[in-house]
Amino acid sequence: MLTEEKEKGGHGECSDSSRMAETWKSIWKLECTSKIKHFLWRACKNILPTNYCLAKRKVSKWEGCAWCGEKETSSHVLWDCRIAADTWRESGLKLPVWKNSHRDFLDVYWRLREDAKGIDWTAFATIAWGIWNNRNLYKHEGKCKSARVLVSEAFRYTEEYRKGNSITSLFSRKPPELSSQWRPPDSG
Ligand SMILES: [Zn+2]
Repeated sequence: MLTEEKEKGGHGECSDSSRMAETWKSIWKLECTSKIKHFLWRACKNILPTNYCLAKRKVSKWEGCAWCGEKETSSHVLWDCRIAADTWRESGLKLPVWKNSHRDFLDVYWRLREDAKGIDWTAFATIAWGIWNNRNLYKHEGKCKSARVLVSEAFRYTEEYRKGNSITSLFSRKPPELSSQWRPPDSG
């Protein structure tokens, strides 16, 4: 997909392998479960099964966002869609607001790494993961959580993971399996 859209600019010329390496490094060192790191990695690799990606792969015909009908790319669902934007606003992470939409999530991530200084990247990753889960919940079950609920869950989750990890490092135990236990509540 990236190759096809090269002419649109951005990271199409991503011969910049050191920039990519830097991106992966920034993801792997996040203080969160590997589940969330993998999610962010997939989002940046542009391989999340968004409706747009599924339509491109001829898996389905509908390429639109379930919430607003715009083309559901990774950047749309995780950043540009109003639902995502509301969630980021609610997060209080002091993220920049940009007027134009983005081609894919890697554009957003790169731009943020440059523009947004001092943000909690672990919370960022966890919230993005929450937005994606919320989208799945809505797509498959017609339910979704409010931005406020989603954000408070993500912060609680981040906090619990960090607490668990620092206790673990003190006692040299295996990290608790938080990732498999945390489930979004049934209703928002
Ligand atoms: Zn949308």
